[in-house]
Amino acid sequence: MKGYVVTGPAQGSYTDIEKPVPKAGQALIRVIYAGICGGDPGLIARNAYGASPEQPRAYGHEYYGEVVEINNPDNLPCRVKVGDLVVGPQNAPCGVCDQCMEGRFSICSAQYGAIRRPGGTFAEFLERDVDKLFPIDPDVDPIVASIAEPLAIGVFDVRNSGIGLGDTALIIGAGAIGMLIGILARHNGASRIIYTEISENRIEQMRAMGFEVYNSLKEDVRKIVADTTDGGVDMVFEVSGSQPGWDLAFDVVRPKGRVVPVALPNPNRSVDFGKLVKKEVDMLCVNMHHLNDFAEAANLINRGDLNDELRQIVTSVWPLEQTQEALDASLDKNGKEIKILLRPGLKERVPLV
Ligand SMILES: [Zn+2]
Ligand SMILES: [Zn+2]
Repeated sequence: MKGYVVTGPAQGSYTDIEKPVPKAGQALIRVIYAGICGGDPGLIARNAYGASPEQPRAYGHEYYGEVVEINNPDNLPCRVKVGDLVVGPQNAPCGVCDQCMEGRFSICSAQYGAIRRPGGTFAEFLERDVDKLFPIDPDVDPIVASIAEPLAIGVFDVRNSGIGLGDTALIIGAGAIGMLIGILARHNGASRIIYTEISENRIEQMRAMGFEVYNSLKEDVRKIVADTTDGGVDMVFEVSGSQPGWDLAFDVVRPKGRVVPVALPNPNRSVDFGKLVKKEVDMLCVNMHHLNDFAEAANLINRGDLNDELRQIVTSVWPLEQTQEALDASLDKNGKEIKILLRPGLKERVPLV
């Protein structure tokens, strides 16, 4: 089969790769769409999964596909059958460490272990454990179904943040995850959601979706928040990973408010702990998602209430063959692309916005 294969740091190419054979307890899935995650270019650049010319690896973790084969001789519990359309996570929690036993799969100490790491999604086929597949109704828009994985992250972040009825939030950064957090927080009853963003394209798009958005390079967001709230916002989601984003977060959160760092910050970011302590700010860290968040993401997509909004996140579909070009386009600082999907067999890029 064909796939985007990495053989070393920044050594990726579209080429032939061995088609996966599902082991006992696994399904073989034909990829319909694979999503490019904001972190993918970085993972490929530093060869995070330790690929080599002898052990090439297909990259990517977001997908929507069709089950074409199930190898389940022991009849393990399974939600899907051959022919079903499915989504699922890539993480392979060990199931036996303390974190796994308490259900916290996102911080399993062994989940990045090479032994159980399944194949990447930038390929024509992939294999997955049958218990980590979630069915998608056939009448759901495939474009929306394809963002199940980032949606699961949004679900995890919003659920854990505790944001609810009447709360106010500032979301720093309107990339795919930032957008999803806003959509879900609004759905949860947040009374006011403010965005800061620096890309005019994204600002325009978020305003069209009815959000209050400011360009943090041009507008004084600290003053706007100070003038229009009673001491700050209840919650800040930091989804930019930037130093100005971190500084802003601790300035505008209200006393006893909560800051949720979502984007992985550069290791050298600094935090003014004085501000945290003086306001008794609560900092809540979130990493990826748990399995139940994936189940909820699939439920939300199947229910469909938010699907019109969710669809806005996907900006274009590229041929799988052009994965490298699509990865490069995903880094465009003008923010024209938000979520890019790859499609095996597609001939040319299809813009969606
Ligand atoms: Zn992702
Ligand atoms: Zn574990």
